Amino acid sequence: MSEPVFLQKIRHLFHTASLDERRCALCHAPFSPVPHDAACAASSFPLPTASLCPSCTPLLRPRTAGYCPRCGRLQATPDAPPSPCGDCLAVPPPWDHFRFYGVYADVLKDLLLRGKFGADPVALNLLGNFLAQVCLDLPRPDAIVPMPLHPSRLRERGFNQCQELAYPVAEALGVPLRPDFLVRCLPTPHQVGLNRQERLNNLKNAFVASPAVRGMRILLIDDTCTTGTTLRRATLALLDSHGEAQAVDVAVVARTSSERSNSSNMSFLRQY
Ligand SMILES: [Zn+2]
Ligand SMILES: [Zn+2]
Repeated sequence: MSEPVFLQKIRHLFHTASLDERRCALCHAPFSPVPHDAACAASSFPLPTASLCPSCTPLLRPRTAGYCPRCGRLQATPDAPPSPCGDCLAVPPPWDHFRFYGVYADVLKDLLLRGKFGADPVALNLLGNFLAQVCLDLPRPDAIVPMPLHPSRLRERGFNQCQELAYPVAEALGVPLRPDFLVRCLPTPHQVGLNRQERLNNLKNAFVASPAVRGMRILLIDDTCTTGTTLRRATLALLDSHGEAQAVDVAVVARTSSERSNSSNMSFLRQY
């Protein structure tokens, strides 16, 4: 199910208009963008920096050290080389590769909240481009699947922020975006105060994958990762006897810095 042509045109027009406005996507200050060719030469992925003013550009950088490469859990030392955490060594996650752009804090958090609750398409487009930047070296997926919302939540919000984040990734990788490959059939249950196993059980049967994913390599896109439970359940659904995907990779915009201190906050966010 590819995006209808008229929607692609609207998206393109919107994007062109937002660049021509020459206002920073973050602070809204007017600025003179670096010419496209110069931006291309300066960066392997020009679009995000082209949308940000020179003051805001340094505020957003991908995290390159101090995390577990299997699940993104942040290490105490931010500049330590990435190394697997104890949980991943004991029980490896069901996905092959895990990518995240940065820590759920400061500017990145503001942009996510703006995109998710403010329905700000510029913020979502920018974040989607950041996400694409950290997905470029992944094994080429056959399809990109956004984390689905339950239909009742989708009706309420009117859009799935993960799908909006996934458009620029699909565009950058030249891979079809298939929101129809994964369905959420149970609304988000209450997860606060539960241990890992209880959270996993709580989400059992929350997702159903399309049989069309059989044999495919899927790139699953989510906005944030706190405990990884939702991502685990969605990945397992894609790999199980209904889905039988060959492999699943996961990419999220932000990883929370602490499962405990952020669990209630993120659980609140997940309700919306
Ligand atoms: Zn700015
Ligand atoms: Zn880990």
